[in-house]
Amino acid sequence: MSNATSTLTSTFDFDLFVIGGGSGGVRAARMAAQRGARVALAERLGNSGLGGTCVNVGCIPKKLYSYAAHYAEAFEESHGYGWEGEAPVLNWATLKANRAKEIARLNGIYGNLLTGSGVTVFDAFARIDGPQAVALKVNGEPAEQRFTARHILIATGGTPHVPDIEGREHVIDSNAIFDLEPFPQRLLVVGGGYIACEFASIFNGLGAQVTQLYRGEQVLRGFDDEVRHFAANEMAKAGVDLRLGTDVAAIHKTGDGLRVTLKDGSTLLADAVLYATGRVPLVKGLGLEAAGVVQGKGGQIVVDERYQTNVPSIFAVGDVTSRVQLTPVALGEAMVVVDQLFGPAAGKAPRSMAYEFIPTAVFTHPSIGTVGYGEAAAREKFGDVTIFRSEFKALRHTLSGSTERTLMKLVVDNRSDRVVGLHMVGAEAGEIVQGFAVALKAGATKAVFDSTIGIHPTAAEEFVTMREPVKA
Ligand code: FAD
Ligand code: NDP
Repeated sequence: MSNATSTLTSTFDFDLFVIGGGSGGVRAARMAAQRGARVALAERLGNSGLGGTCVNVGCIPKKLYSYAAHYAEAFEESHGYGWEGEAPVLNWATLKANRAKEIARLNGIYGNLLTGSGVTVFDAFARIDGPQAVALKVNGEPAEQRFTARHILIATGGTPHVPDIEGREHVIDSNAIFDLEPFPQRLLVVGGGYIACEFASIFNGLGAQVTQLYRGEQVLRGFDDEVRHFAANEMAKAGVDLRLGTDVAAIHKTGDGLRVTLKDGSTLLADAVLYATGRVPLVKGLGLEAAGVVQGKGGQIVVDERYQTNVPSIFAVGDVTSRVQLTPVALGEAMVVVDQLFGPAAGKAPRSMAYEFIPTAVFTHPSIGTVGYGEAAAREKFGDVTIFRSEFKALRHTLSGSTERTLMKLVVDNRSDRVVGLHMVGAEAGEIVQGFAVALKAGATKAVFDSTIGIHPTAAEEFVTMREPVKA
């Protein structure tokens, strides 16, 4: 037991009360309990089981559907490799049922991990009832229960935001897409962020006729501009009807599906309209105002670099703070809080979180992997940069018949020779970029990249064989 833990007293019911059983909450509760703290966790089971957004309606089911969608092109491309026969047909009901079974298995694992670590788990909606108290509305029980805790950690995540448009009642959000019935033969996706682009690609692969509307000039704002254009072009080549600079004016239900009127006056028909227009912090009913916890303009909980709110006993991590909305970030933040409150793991230094060089992938088809700065952001931050770029047809597609192309790009800070940005659009971009993220984090220079031997024949080797700059 660490020093921090041994100073805990039993004045409180718990040393730590975690609100929310998603990525950040489960990690914090488990790690704190492993350090000897008395921990409780409340999960309202809003999205069905323990594990939060990522497990139930996010990363995991999304990636499973992305795998499912990739089979369509694999069947088609197999002919070039000599495989004959008709492409099999998707059974949407089977995919949904198999996904649900796997997610239920994961929910069970999360539950076992928590109880196995000694965490008291409540199937309840939690409300803050004072700086060191939590009131629980346990499912099925009329009265609230009240518990005290030395520390409270809010990890309640976020929820989809759909703007107020005429016909809003006809649209679905990303929570509903996984169990949509029937399969949408004509799907309209509104938005140009991660979720919109991923689901446009996924449903296109699964066989829907997909139209994606984005109000701005190009999707995936914030990513390297060239990556955005390249990815959008590849998505369109794969069959997504991507319409830029346009938005929905109204949606009406008709006998032939949903009639969507765009702001330019044109109309289109869809079986389902997915709004993927961002997420907002999930703070409704949490009692933040009564507890005096300061929130930002978007409702997000304001925390300092230690994830402490203005109320010293209350901390917050993950999507509810509206920083970087990614599961590994929520996990990282949770571990920083636990190390601070209960001491680091034996023999380890307390962890910290750095927000520079967080790698990320967008599971479009083809996928995007990126770490560090895009070209424009790097010019702004470092001034003098050199760009290396390679665009090619992957070896696999020499026989597959696919016209898909791959883009790889390096951004180098000339003053230090450090590679400060690495970007890819192509198959398995996330898998490839994860490894290179370690190199960038370690401060690898272009000279180190150049002296690294490639693995042949792979697409990834291109990152260590780019010799001629395309732009300074
Ligand atoms: P959550 O995981 O959302 O957990 C919050 C939990 O708190 C929920 O279970 C909720 O029911 C519970 N809760 C809320 N209020 C209360 C209350 N008052 N009382 C009790 N319980 C409460 N990230 C990636 O890194 N990679 C991906 O590929 C990826 N794909 C995604 C795909 C989609 C469609 C979406 C929506 C998100 C995706 N994300 C992905 C983002 C990732 O899911 C989130 O960043 C992550 O889940 C945030 O974790 P969290 O702990 O902050 O919140
Ligand atoms: P994003 O913030 O990424 O994108 C929201 C999109 O909706 C933007 O294109 C935005 O346009 C557009 N938009 C916002 N408001 C409106 C409006 N009123 N009308 C029309 N369009 C609008 O949010 P997502 O919902 O896609 O995803 C939320 C977060 O979840 C992501 O930021 C990411 O952190 C995480 N996530 C991660 C994934 C991964 O790691 N692979 C996958 C999925 C989600 P504009 O750019 O013009 O503001």
